[in-house]
Amino acid sequence: MGQRPNHMDPDEFRRQGYKAVDWLADYMARLDDLPVKTPVEPGDVRAKLAVSAPKHGEEFSAVLADLDRVIVPGLTHWQAPGFFAYFPANASGPATLADLVSSGLGTQGMMWDTSPAVTELEQHVLDWLAVELDLPERFRGNGVIQDSASSSTLCAVLAARHRAGGIEALPTLVAYTSEQAHSSVIKGLRVAGIPDDRIRIIATTPEYAMRADHLAYEIVQDRKHGLTPFMVIATVGTTSTTAIDPVGELGWVAANFDAWLHVDAAFAGTASLCPEMRFLNAGLESADSYVFNPHKWMLTNLDCSAFFVADRASLNNALSITPEYLHNPASEAGTVVDYRDWQVPLGRRFRALKLWFVIRHYGVEGLRAHIRRHLAWAAELTDWVKADDRFELVAPTVVSLVSFRHAGGDTATRRVLDTVNQSGRAYLTATTLNGQPTLRVAIGGTRTERHHVEELWSLIQSAA
Ligand code: PLP
Repeated sequence: MGQRPNHMDPDEFRRQGYKAVDWLADYMARLDDLPVKTPVEPGDVRAKLAVSAPKHGEEFSAVLADLDRVIVPGLTHWQAPGFFAYFPANASGPATLADLVSSGLGTQGMMWDTSPAVTELEQHVLDWLAVELDLPERFRGNGVIQDSASSSTLCAVLAARHRAGGIEALPTLVAYTSEQAHSSVIKGLRVAGIPDDRIRIIATTPEYAMRADHLAYEIVQDRKHGLTPFMVIATVGTTSTTAIDPVGELGWVAANFDAWLHVDAAFAGTASLCPEMRFLNAGLESADSYVFNPHKWMLTNLDCSAFFVADRASLNNALSITPEYLHNPASEAGTVVDYRDWQVPLGRRFRALKLWFVIRHYGVEGLRAHIRRHLAWAAELTDWVKADDRFELVAPTVVSLVSFRHAGGDTATRRVLDTVNQSGRAYLTATTLNGQPTLRVAIGGTRTERHHVEELWSLIQSAA
């Protein structure tokens, strides 16, 4: 027998665990003082790491100390209050602690039988969400947590492909999405075997919403050519401008041709927690599947994507394979949900725990307050942009993303972007609309306060 591995016993785990939590609490406390976007160059982080793996275990304190020496300088601080780039990836205290508990439990919830609480809590909190978001009845009892909106959309594509005849039908299947759809849509379609020349990119209105008349026209043309329109993918809250596709009209067209309608509300979906934002749900009763990401704007740390499917049989039949070693009486009796049949991987961790912690810690009213602050500040920022003739708004502010550019042209817009980002106080990203760079201010950070938005606006004005 060789050496025993140096497992942490419960006492040692407690001691080191407190230190790790202390370290994190200190990190949270200094988030406002760190440069939001790291200035490191490629290779800088690796240059600080030991060339080879340690042969013998080290003191845990040495590992923790290296977080400050090696890791923090190479991080872009997504939880910093001056983070306005991409869309937010909200982390929160209760979700962080839930992830810690989930890791410590180390359970694997691939089937109800492998840990009933993992499955039943997931079903339950997703039903809570379906009710609080006021999702159509067809999605109640039909939710699952995926790692990402990309995976959720891929699963929707696989279910739609199955319903349309599966692999045998593949050579004729055609999918439709807007030119503003997220890249994960094309990726999911490609992974499912739909080639680019059978993915129709539908034109948008001046507000960047998919045109239902163009969709209908393209579908009719494809049908004339003997092809099978099998899927339409709409977006509620596009990545560039949070444009809202006309889901009801698209659903009507899709239903007429037996095509599956999937709705990607990755970022904006959380806002439906607020009754006054329920216009975001318009037409959803005609959707076959729906995804939104609590890991973006609902205070639930990455990764947590909530996917709802009306026709769960298509999804399960597309993804279920039962080898001998997974047989068990509960599954055979058909009385339980086995989430392995709702996703691509087999194994699954206990993500529902963090939704449960978050919803119970904040309460629905607390979550609404989180959203409403951002909506209000985005409306204010929109007014400030409108009132300054050096800038022009390029799209309506629908939720908490404000998209605008410098009236002086592309070089001036890029200069504003670079200057703000180099300040270290705030971080923005740009998109391209009608061939022109456009600034995006995505307001939604867990720690962002109104004065951070004001500071950002001052930085933008000074850079103008
Ligand atoms: N869909 C939309 C509209 C998005 O904005 C994003 C990411 O920002 C995604 C999908 C991808 O999300 P995920 O990283 O969860 O795959």
